[in-house]
Order: sequence, then structure tokens, then C-alpha cells
Amino acid sequence: MHENRSRRYGIMGGTFNPVHNGHLVTAEEARTQFDLDKVIFIPTGIPSHKVTDETPTPEDRYIMAVIATASNPDFIVSRIEVEKAKPTYTIDTLKELSEIYEGSEFYFITGADAVWEILNWKDPESLSKYCTFIGATRPGYSLEKFKESHLLPDEDRTDPKVPKVRIMEIPALAISSTDIRNRVGTGHTIRYLVPEGVLNYIYKSGFYEKN
Ligand code: ATP
Ligand code: MG
Repeated sequence: MHENRSRRYGIMGGTFNPVHNGHLVTAEEARTQFDLDKVIFIPTGIPSHKVTDETPTPEDRYIMAVIATASNPDFIVSRIEVEKAKPTYTIDTLKELSEIYEGSEFYFITGADAVWEILNWKDPESLSKYCTFIGATRPGYSLEKFKESHLLPDEDRTDPKVPKVRIMEIPALAISSTDIRNRVGTGHTIRYLVPEGVLNYIYKSGFYEKN
């Protein structure tokens, strides 16, 4: 137990269409490397440009995330974004979480591709008030450029305007949801790329099959 420090939550945001073992390895590695109490998976709601009868629905993506994380007592899945009819800004989700889990520290976990997007997010300065970013290595995306930039992770940095970004090396898994969808669509196996329960849910629901 950590009685003398605030609780530390990892936040793993994503479309999770579907959740795969790359997400799980990333979350688990962040949990241990950063001594997080819990990692909260937050599937996104409906992107505004998407039609609503499309499958998998946000609810389906939420269910797959629950199935994938069921065996890990330190992983939880939040409905905070899927409940909303509109797309949610990360900053608004972070504000809500900091009210729900008052006095906690937040670590926003992203892959090497998504960490670049942080810089373009609406209002990165206020984001840094709410969380530290963890940029995980991901096959096909280089962190070299990032390491050389002014966002070089620096534990002593005190400028509150600069987002705090920490680099995390993880065992490389060249898995993406795009690839999973393509594999199902072309009849290739996805076994061992996603948890077995997720695989079953995909096949039983007929997701990603090309008609
Ligand atoms: P898509 O191909 O549909 O974009 P994805 O595999 O990138 O799906 P997302 O839901 O977009 O999955 O990603 C959620 C988060 O997980 C992002 O921060 C992304 O960078 C990270 N991530 C996804 N796959 C990996 C992986 N294999 N290794 C490390 N990080 C990953
Ligand atoms: Mg992606």
C-alpha cells in the first residue's frame, strides 16, 4: 500500500476498434514503470462524422474493452466518453476525472504516434495542468525526432506551460486496430493479436466482415 502519496491513475484513451494486445501491453508496462494504482481505459464516443447505426457501436467497443481487461484487477474501463452523444475533448475528460478522483495524479498514456498529436491538441498548456504524458514506443513510429525536440523528457522541468512527457520503452508489438479489421475482412487469423474473449465477440457479432 502507498499510504503517503496520492493515487496515481493511468489514462489510456483510444477508439479501441477493437482493443488489442498492443494496448494491453502498453497499459501494463505503464502501470509497472510508473507505479500506477489503476489504468483507466476510456473508449471514445461517436465521432461526429460517423453514422450511428455503424458497428461496432461505442457500446460494443466498450464491451470489448471490458472483456479484454477483465482479468486484470488494476485495469478499469470508463463509460465517461461513450455515454456522451458528442465527441469529447481530452481536456474535458481530464477535468471530469480530476473531480471524480480528487487529489489524484494522472498519467496520460499514448503510443509514439499519438504523442505527436498532443502538441496539436486544443490547449496543450491546460492539459499539462492535469496530467503527465507517457509516450510509448510503437513499431513504425520513431521517437527519435521527439527526443531531440524541446519536449525532451526532463524530470526537473518546472515550466508549467510545457507539457510533461515521459518516454517509455515497451516490448514492441506491431499490432494495430486497422490491421485487425483488415485481417478479419480478408479472412486472416487474429488469434493471439487480441484476447480470446475479444476474438469471440468479434466473430459472433460479425464485425469487420466485408460484405
Ligand atoms: P487504429 O489503427 O484504428 O488507429 P490503433 O491500433 O492505433 O487503432 P487506437 O485506439 O487508435 O489504436 O490507439 C489508442 C492508443 O493506443 C493510442 O495512444 C495509440 O498510440 C496506442 N497504441 C495502439 N497500438 C499500439 C501498439 N501496438 N503499441 C503501442 N501503443 C499503441
Ligand atoms: Mg490509432
